[in-house]
Amino acid sequence: MDSRGNILYLVVPCYNEEEGLEHAARVMREKIRQLVKEGKISPKSKVMLVNDGSRDGTWKIISGLCKEDAVFSGICLSRNYGHQSAILSGMLESAKHADMVVTIDADLQQDIEALDKFIECYRNGCEVVYGVRNNRDTDGFFKKMTATGFYKLMGLLGCNVMQNHADYRLLSKAALQALTEYREVNLFLRGLIPTMGFPSDVVYFDVKKREAGHSKYTLKKMMALAVDGITSMSTRPLRMITVWGFLVSMFSFVMIIICLVDWMTGKNVQGYTTTLVVSLLMGGLTIFSLGVVGEYVGKIYMETKARPRYIIEAMIWKEKED
Ligand code: UDP
Ligand code: MG
Repeated sequence: MDSRGNILYLVVPCYNEEEGLEHAARVMREKIRQLVKEGKISPKSKVMLVNDGSRDGTWKIISGLCKEDAVFSGICLSRNYGHQSAILSGMLESAKHADMVVTIDADLQQDIEALDKFIECYRNGCEVVYGVRNNRDTDGFFKKMTATGFYKLMGLLGCNVMQNHADYRLLSKAALQALTEYREVNLFLRGLIPTMGFPSDVVYFDVKKREAGHSKYTLKKMMALAVDGITSMSTRPLRMITVWGFLVSMFSFVMIIICLVDWMTGKNVQGYTTTLVVSLLMGGLTIFSLGVVGEYVGKIYMETKARPRYIIEAMIWKEKED
């Protein structure tokens, strides 16, 4: 047993979740109550619901819940900042009151019963506890393929990301404090948090089907997350372009000599198809490489501006009477 406090805040990012939020919030409250009763967490523990610029009635539901019970708190972001920033805002705000924070999705896909194990790890001295899914059975074929492909690619690019760890994770006060030191706008928490170090552990959990509504991770959002993940964690793509450029230059050099020799010896070269294929391929690869460089330049641009990562429009937080 350690002497750290045991106020737990559950941080829940919510984007257009009106269909299932009320139910999910009650399930979370039940879990908090149970943990309090068992003496595992402080009665001051809370559920922090973050409205990530939803267009539906999500914020209305959150304010209703907060009015009903002080166990709920709410943050309303000024627009849709995306999952990562929504989690970050919830964590940083919670850090003002909590001893540990667990981030969990609003759709109850991530098994809330695993919380006991998270807290146990914290009690055993961990500062970071990663939730790792047992399987991907609930994912469609497409999601499975893209997710597996993404992890493979990240591995190839030398990024240290944990397989099948989404953003279901516990951070202690110390870890949250360390996280505030990272000022990057281009945020990929799954990659960043392991680089902070700290004693950590893994908790395995089952993934369930989404209880209500549909996935808020559109293909566009998934791709943006993947690009953010890669560019924020690795510069290897830039190195690969350099290597590729070098190899092509070598090849071209040899080809030039061959062509010159052919020309001098008066050989008639046909090769229309070859010329076309090579120039198309080179054109494609060159534009792609420029695009990759552009991605990094864009990220640098955003980082140098150092704009706020989120803006809080409204916040509801009430002291809990024990
Ligand atoms: N989410 C968010 N902002 C976004 C997209 C998603 O806060 O722009 C939240 C969403 O409400 C949910 C969590 O992130 O609580 C995970 O999203 P979702 O369940 O749709 O993703 P999936 O489980 O399909 O990967
Ligand atoms: Mg989900």
